[in-house]
Amino acid sequence: MSDYSRRQFLGAAATAAVAGGVTPALAVQGAPGGTRVPGSAAGMAPSPFAQESAVGVAASRPVVIASGNGLRATEKAMAMLVEGADPLTAVIAGVNIVEEDPKDNSVGYGGIPNEDGVVELDSCVMYGPTHQAGAVAALRNIKTPSRVARLVMERTDHVLLVGEGALRFARAHGFEEVNLLTDEAREIWLRWKERHSDDDDWLSPPEQGNGGAQSKARDILRTYGTINCCAVTAGGDLAGVTTTSGLSYKIPGRVGDSPIIGAGLYVENEVGAAGSTGRGEAVIQICGSHTVVEAMRHGMSPQEACLHACKRIADCTRVDRLRDAKGRPNFDVKFYAVARDGRHGAASIWSGGHYAVFADGRNRHEPIVGLYEHD
Ligand code: ASP
Repeated sequence: MSDYSRRQFLGAAATAAVAGGVTPALAVQGAPGGTRVPGSAAGMAPSPFAQESAVGVAASRPVVIASGNGLRATEKAMAMLVEGADPLTAVIAGVNIVEEDPKDNSVGYGGIPNEDGVVELDSCVMYGPTHQAGAVAALRNIKTPSRVARLVMERTDHVLLVGEGALRFARAHGFEEVNLLTDEAREIWLRWKERHSDDDDWLSPPEQGNGGAQSKARDILRTYGTINCCAVTAGGDLAGVTTTSGLSYKIPGRVGDSPIIGAGLYVENEVGAAGSTGRGEAVIQICGSHTVVEAMRHGMSPQEACLHACKRIADCTRVDRLRDAKGRPNFDVKFYAVARDGRHGAASIWSGGHYAVFADGRNRHEPIVGLYEHD
C-alpha cells in the first residue's frame, strides 16, 4: 500500500476512534473529532485504495483460517490440504464437523430455530480457480448445507437455491433428511417463546422460591453464530465456505449474509478470500466480504481490509434503533480474511474474540482487532 493510501485509511480509523473509543493501536493519527452526521459524506472514509496492489503473489505454504468456533475445522482442512486435497473439499470437510455437532447451536444440526421452532440453514461456497459459487438458503432438514451449496455450484447452472426448491434439490442428490431441532435447541427456543411477550398465552414454568410466579423477564437475547472457513494452498489457490443456522428466532424465510456471495463470503483467486459472522443484515448492506477482498486488491493487508469493512458498516449504520448513545453500531460483525500470499487477519466492530488459524505448522486462536473498545 502506498503511503498516501495508508494515511487515508488510518485517518478514517482515527475518525472512528474519536467518535467512539476505538482501539488505541488504531488511534494513531490526529483526525478531527465530532459526531458523524448520518447520511452525510463527512463521516465516510475517503477512498482508501492504493495506486499499487499486492495482487498475484502466491502463498508458499498452505493457510487455513476460520471464525473462532472453527479450530476443529482448520485442523481438518489443513490435514486434507497437506494430503493434496483441493481447498474447497478441505474447507467443506472442516465445517462439516461443526455442522454435524449438536452442541454448536449456531450452525447445522442443533442450530437455534426460527420463530416457529423450525431450523433453517444458510450456506455458500466459492472456489477461486474457477470463480464459481454455490449457495442454499432457508434449507430445512439437511445437516450439511455446505455440501448442498457445493452441488448447486457443480451440478446446476445456478448460484443460489432457497427453501423448498433447495430441499428438493438436496433430496434429488440423496441427502438424508433429519429433524435438525435437538432437544437442547428446542428448550432454548421454548424459553424464548414463553418469555418474549407478555401479551400472549404462553407462560414460563413456575419458578422455585417465588410462590410460583411466572417470570416476565425478557432476558433471552437473540443469538448470532456461524462458521466461516477459508483456505489458500501453497500454490495460491483459494476457496471458502460459510454456513449457519442464522439469527435465532428469525422470521421464517429470513436469509442472512451467510449464503450471499459477496456478503458472507467472497473469493478472488488473484487476491484473497474473506468471510463474515455477526449481524447479517449489516454485512449485506455493504457487500461486506467483497468490500474486504477489494480493499486487499488495492493494497490493504487482510487485517486492514477487515477493519475497513467494519468502519464502512459503522458509517452506514444511520438508524437510531441500531446505534448506541454515541452513534456507534449496537451490534457486532466480524470479518476474516486470507490473502493469496498467505497473510491473514480479522477485525470486528467491537473488540474481543479470536479467530482460528492454521499456519506455519500451528493450529491456534489469534486475537481479533476491534474498531471500538467497550466503554
Ligand atoms: N451472519 C449470520 C446471519 O446473519 C449470523 C451470525 O453470524 O451470527 O445469519
